Amino acid sequence: MTTAALIVAAGRGTRAAGGLPKQYAQLGGASALARTLGVLLEHPAIDVVVVAIAEADRALYDAAIGGGHPRLVPPALGGATRQRSVLNGLRALAPLSPSRVLIHDAARPFLTGEIVERVLGALERGPGAIAAVPLADTLKRAGPGGRIAATLDRAGLWRAQTPQGFRFEAILKAHEAALAAGREDLTDDAAVAEWAGLPVELVEGSEANVKLTTAEDLAMAARAVETGAAAPTRVRTGQGFDVHRFTLGDHVWLCGVRIPHTHALEGHSDADVGLHALTDALLGAIGDGDIGEHFPNTDPAWRGAASHLFLADAARRVRARGGAISNVDVTLLCEAPKIAPHREAMRARIAEVLELDISRVAVKATTTEGLGFTGRREGIAAMAVATVVLR
Ligand code: MG
Repeated sequence: MTTAALIVAAGRGTRAAGGLPKQYAQLGGASALARTLGVLLEHPAIDVVVVAIAEADRALYDAAIGGGHPRLVPPALGGATRQRSVLNGLRALAPLSPSRVLIHDAARPFLTGEIVERVLGALERGPGAIAAVPLADTLKRAGPGGRIAATLDRAGLWRAQTPQGFRFEAILKAHEAALAAGREDLTDDAAVAEWAGLPVELVEGSEANVKLTTAEDLAMAARAVETGAAAPTRVRTGQGFDVHRFTLGDHVWLCGVRIPHTHALEGHSDADVGLHALTDALLGAIGDGDIGEHFPNTDPAWRGAASHLFLADAARRVRARGGAISNVDVTLLCEAPKIAPHREAMRARIAEVLELDISRVAVKATTTEGLGFTGRREGIAAMAVATVVLR
């Protein structure tokens, strides 16, 4: 049984996020879409994920997915309405013949694995199920002059959320039929299913699974991410180590800073041993291989490459997993050159490449008291640690 997820990210509402469509608003170092994707791509029950995007947002989408993911297929293009965007996404999935699909709004980044499991569980019993929460507030109908005309009975009323899950063939057929019948006013997929006569079960969503709609929602979400109040977080640590030997030359690159020296460091790229160790630490934190795998030193493309490119790529991979870099710490081991005069420039450069506040970046140096290969001034070694918070 193949389970697909379709993320609807084609909305054009930009007012809440200062000119950006809100699904691309940054929440603690990752976009709302990247966070939503992280939850669905990491869920073991989901085999394939497609995102419906607006053509104009392709660059934002590419940034959100970073290096991509084996379970993520190329995006589907959205349509003029949400209904059309979903249908385009379903059509893109059809050749993969999934047996069931979860349709989810990109602007609900606080989805949890438990909600996914409840919706999928209900699909064992029927063709459709949606996450929803019982209405807690009392409902008023407004009359003339903004005065209350009536208090409505809220018994049995729920607020619909996403994901909304369906047996794939049934929801694709319902969407095709609704379009053919000229019904383009249906505001969620459950409404399409109801129109087609499919039973849809309500399962428990979560108050935290909010849809980010207003600037206030985005500000609250950013605060929740920053303070760790938003859903359970997972902290991961990675470490990196690298060595480069000295060769003839008159400068070295260390942590993105060019330092005049009696020798250069030998390497395929610019041999920035500090940034290489740090790149490996970030990749280590998300279990995504190492620098040599992503940038092989047999590839002429990386000859003489500036190592900040490698570091920026690792940061993109972290964000594509819905991760935020909490802090990084680099230690350089050498007798010379002296690191202290360049330490602040190194911190600033790393902070710039990782888009972090400088307070989250440490660079330290030590000699090895004349011992070993660093003590004999044969080369420079570097160690690094990175902490990443995954949603
Ligand atoms: Mg290296």
